[in-house]
Amino acid sequence: MRVHGLREELEHQGISRRDFLAFCASMAAVLGLPASAGPAIAAAVENEQKPILIWLEFQDCAGNTESLLRAGHPTVADLILDSISLSYHETLMAAAGSQAEQALTQAVRDNAGKYIALIEGSIPSDADGAYCMIGGKSALQIAREICGGAAATIAVGTCASFGGIPAARPNPTGALSVADAVPGVKNLINMSACPANAENITALIVYYLTLKRWPPLDQYRRPLFAYGKSIHDNCERRAHFDAGQYVDAWGDEAHRHGHCLYKMGCKGPATSQNCPVVRWNEGTNWPIGCGHPCIGCAEPNFWDTMTPFYQRLPNVAGFDVGSWVDPVGLGLTGLVAAAAVAHGVGEIVRHRIGSKASSEDGSEAE
Ligand code: SF4
Repeated sequence: MRVHGLREELEHQGISRRDFLAFCASMAAVLGLPASAGPAIAAAVENEQKPILIWLEFQDCAGNTESLLRAGHPTVADLILDSISLSYHETLMAAAGSQAEQALTQAVRDNAGKYIALIEGSIPSDADGAYCMIGGKSALQIAREICGGAAATIAVGTCASFGGIPAARPNPTGALSVADAVPGVKNLINMSACPANAENITALIVYYLTLKRWPPLDQYRRPLFAYGKSIHDNCERRAHFDAGQYVDAWGDEAHRHGHCLYKMGCKGPATSQNCPVVRWNEGTNWPIGCGHPCIGCAEPNFWDTMTPFYQRLPNVAGFDVGSWVDPVGLGLTGLVAAAAVAHGVGEIVRHRIGSKASSEDGSEAE
């Protein structure tokens, strides 16, 4: 079977060159590159052969698959399901039962050592893996076989990356992350979050197609382009944090004016991801933009360490900010706040907010 280039596939689907270039520019933005890198990405990617992707779902809610199917245009579904070859995906493929198993066997056999495995969901290890069986094999067996023969493995979502909700106390199934279930797996990349942002997954694959290597990773094997900064670093409410302007109750005036959600339990200071920049639903909005605090879903053990979600947890790593917010009890009238905010930044920010008082979203990312 002839393997088509990505550009050829997109043309075949009726995706215009203009849309393709817009897509490449958006990928440059996700990767933290200037828009001028878009044409270079396009040139590198369009003649590439399609990578072979094998997507397995284990102990999960299919939230990452749902996220994948609802990204921008060309949709990630256009790109990955059609243009890039997604050879096996239990939720999306038409085949079922033994036909599906044959498809998986054939995809692995035909592309041994070359395919990319994407794993969604944690992998139960108790009871010999009996909590998740597919085609008579445990998820543990399948993961070891498929990831063991892959050129790279992408753990999609927090369950695959760190065990996620299934691994939260008391972890009744012995749920494991891919890293723990398949020790020593080659080129493992964790794309945590609940769900993982489809733009980031696509950008990761585009990065690989463009540069023929995987991006630099952080200590949790997550790409720095997506996880190199905390939510707090880029949050559009950060100026309100620095100025001591906090929401104290749902629906209060501060909430209506887009002030900081730290006192409502926001875990943005302890969570690394590019949500404030990439956002969701074609960049429409994101949780904090909608007035909901970050729950820290991209971090290891978030269900155990970041709950209760609507309470401040000053002892969570990264929350040293609380050491001065809590005792001071900062409010809009807080003269003390100005003194506590490092090096007088509060005054500057207050002035900037004042000059933007008519802006409802307070969108002045630092
Ligand atoms: S809403 Fe959360 S992430 Fe944003 S500035 Fe406040 S504490 Fe930081």
